[in-house]
Amino acid sequence: MKEILSQLGIEATNPGCYDGEWFGSGDELESVSPIDGEVLATVRLATAAEHERVVASAVAGFAKWRDTPAPVRGAVVREIGNELREHREALGRLVTLEMGKIVAEGVGEVQEMIDICDFAVGLSRQLYGLTMHSERPGHRMYEQWHPLGPIGVITAFNFPVAVWSWNAAIAAVCGDTVIWKPSDKTPLTALAVTRIAERVLESHGLRGVMCLSVGDIDTVGAPMVADPRLPLISATGSVAMGKQVGPAVAARLGRSLLELGGNNAITVTEGANLDLAVRAVLFGAVGTAGQRCTSTRRLLVHSAVSDELTSRLVKAYDQVPIGDPLAEGTLMGPLIDGQAVAAYTEAIALAKKQGAEVLCGGEVLDGMPSPYYVKPTIIRARADMPIVKEETFAPILYVIEGDSVEQLVRWQNDVPQGLSSAMFTQDLGHAERFLSHGGSDCGIANINIGTSGAEIGGAFGGEKETGGGREAGSDAWKTYMRRQTVTINWSGALPLAQGIEFSAGD
Ligand code: NAD
Repeated sequence: MKEILSQLGIEATNPGCYDGEWFGSGDELESVSPIDGEVLATVRLATAAEHERVVASAVAGFAKWRDTPAPVRGAVVREIGNELREHREALGRLVTLEMGKIVAEGVGEVQEMIDICDFAVGLSRQLYGLTMHSERPGHRMYEQWHPLGPIGVITAFNFPVAVWSWNAAIAAVCGDTVIWKPSDKTPLTALAVTRIAERVLESHGLRGVMCLSVGDIDTVGAPMVADPRLPLISATGSVAMGKQVGPAVAARLGRSLLELGGNNAITVTEGANLDLAVRAVLFGAVGTAGQRCTSTRRLLVHSAVSDELTSRLVKAYDQVPIGDPLAEGTLMGPLIDGQAVAAYTEAIALAKKQGAEVLCGGEVLDGMPSPYYVKPTIIRARADMPIVKEETFAPILYVIEGDSVEQLVRWQNDVPQGLSSAMFTQDLGHAERFLSHGGSDCGIANINIGTSGAEIGGAFGGEKETGGGREAGSDAWKTYMRRQTVTINWSGALPLAQGIEFSAGD
């Protein structure tokens, strides 16, 4: 552990702010590993004045960074991607130490950062605007995309490094600077990432481009959200957080990109390939101990295949190796903390109270190095139970049986969230119906692939209470820029649009 921390420049106590220099003199925050409850290191949080310094640096940094040509900005992001390649294993292991996901997933998360850097490098030469034909003679119309400003990025504990990169790499090539407020559960990974970026930024004499402000909600989070100098707040986390952040940003008529909770379902039709379905459900529901926004939380299964699929899943669940996520062979590590364990046990109790039946799991494990290890759980439930409409951030899967695909898809959509969805089927008609406008209402809809594990090339995000934001690939970059529509009149006359005549006397 010490070796990983020192390789990534983490000391016993670390300043939590970076704007080109490191500082931080507020309260000391302990980063506790969920693996064994040990304190990994501590961070001195931002005071109000220190957070203000970070914002001022990002504002000043923006004035210079936006003047740097986009492909040159891309070259800087390429170097950051290369630094990440150098530190892939160490950073992935730190993600595991601090967050508790297994090493393969920790390293996979860093790979995602590398991938988005590559994507952003290409994008830096493709920030295209459209041209239009003017209705007036001798006029030219086009649109162009300008850098937007310093961006506030608020991230959740469960993807402690990748979500920053989805925002920061894209924002950087768009000419924006970034202020990052990470989760207080995972500050060390944020420090490590910033130290990696620092090496590149410093070598180019860049200050205020990728800034960090580790602090509590009152000192950093809420002031960021209310700050008119930050035209965009990109916030990833729970629906409860989004319900505070969204209105606060809207109150100042700012722009927010919200990536909030999901309640993702896999629908399995009659005749589906059950071998694939079992593997997909297992990875989706048990992977990351059910702590992905895209984790599979509901299995909507046709009655013709329900018994077979459920019994195969129960068997597979019993064989999931649970334990130290750093150890080879482990598939499920601990939950993040005691609050998460309490949410797990409360949801199971509530489900039972509402008439559901626990098919396997349902217990906190004894004799583990910390009290945060639980058994992955399958619960037979009904679609109308209130508990199945909630996101519990834990490995709980509700199995709901139905008699027709139409009914299953209706149930899938009958929850407040709309992030990820999947159907397992061999029937083209069912697949196409699922993907049609009357089908899945989610931001992500997959066929014969589970709900989690998205690639960076697509725009990522969801509908309804998931917040409507999109980040990462496709044209998500447009949220990070301001669009300007330009009309140039080279005709020598002044014709008005819509043929309006407006002249006085001549
Ligand atoms: P959380 O809502 O507790 O915290 C997320 C972040 O928001 C933290 O940095 C927190 O300090 C900050 N925050 C909370 N209230 C705030 C406020 N009023 N003003 C400013 N900042 C505030 O979430 P969490 O427990 O860290 O993460 C789990 C949740 O995140 C789950 O609901 C999961 O589905 C969601 N999530 C969504 C996505 C997505 O892309 N849709 C990705 C990852 C996680």
